[in-house]
Amino acid sequence: STTAPVSLVTGANRGIGRETARQLAALGHTVLLCARRPQDAERAVADLAPAVPGTLLPRRLDVTDADGVRALARGVEEEFGHLDVLVNNAAIDYDTAQRAVSVDLDQVRHTLETNLFGAWRTAQAFLPLLRRSAHPRLVNVSSESGSLEHMTGGAPAYGISKAALNALTRKLADELRAERILVNAVCPGWIATDMGGPGGEPVEKGAASVVWAATLPDSGPTGGFFRHGEALAW
Ligand code: NDP
Repeated sequence: STTAPVSLVTGANRGIGRETARQLAALGHTVLLCARRPQDAERAVADLAPAVPGTLLPRRLDVTDADGVRALARGVEEEFGHLDVLVNNAAIDYDTAQRAVSVDLDQVRHTLETNLFGAWRTAQAFLPLLRRSAHPRLVNVSSESGSLEHMTGGAPAYGISKAALNALTRKLADELRAERILVNAVCPGWIATDMGGPGGEPVEKGAASVVWAATLPDSGPTGGFFRHGEALAW
């Protein structure tokens, strides 16, 4: 239906992003399931679409490709005219074996290019479309590794990328508060994915933490950092 909310999830071909796309489509959203390889997006949509009432649409999006991000925003504008929910989920490089004292700064820069700048450029590109939504929501999928109280135990590039993403969340929330765009950072928890490894909790639980922030009521919070709907320390 044309009244279904339109949502976009980056890095949605596997892991938490894929399950977030599925859960939003299960709620009846029209979901743009994005992956950097088109065939990966198409495969995920083929797997998920039969079991959900909403519409899943495969879209190519590499968040490090500025031209590609802008091109997708133009495409969404032509097709839908607006966007209701943007989920910045794509991320790389949980570099637990590294230390800040010795990590290769080219690797850090590479990590920030996806985890920080990828989310930032995607937010900038889709902001004009979010502004045309009646209930706009922007979710940055972050991590407690980005909490300034948890800067221990490795993952310098990843942890600092998520700390910066949290700071960006605060900036965007502040700048967009008057326009009633709710912007929040979410930690999914430790989740069993390719990134999280086998010991984590089920992907359904991690995605539910994201979907909570993507479907907040108009009275909901903005500029917060949450896991499973509970506030986390910055
Ligand atoms: P996965 O490694 O399983 O999936 C990452 C996804 O991001 C893949 O779809 C990958 O695509 C995509 N991606 C990577 N780089 C880009 C890019 N340049 N453009 C577009 N897509 C890209 O990770 P998870 O599902 O575990 O993580 C999802 C989010 O949750 C991340 O933000 C992560 O930091 C966060 N998180 C995860 C935790 C966990 O325990 N799993 C804990 C805390 C936070 P491709 O298949 O092409 O590589």
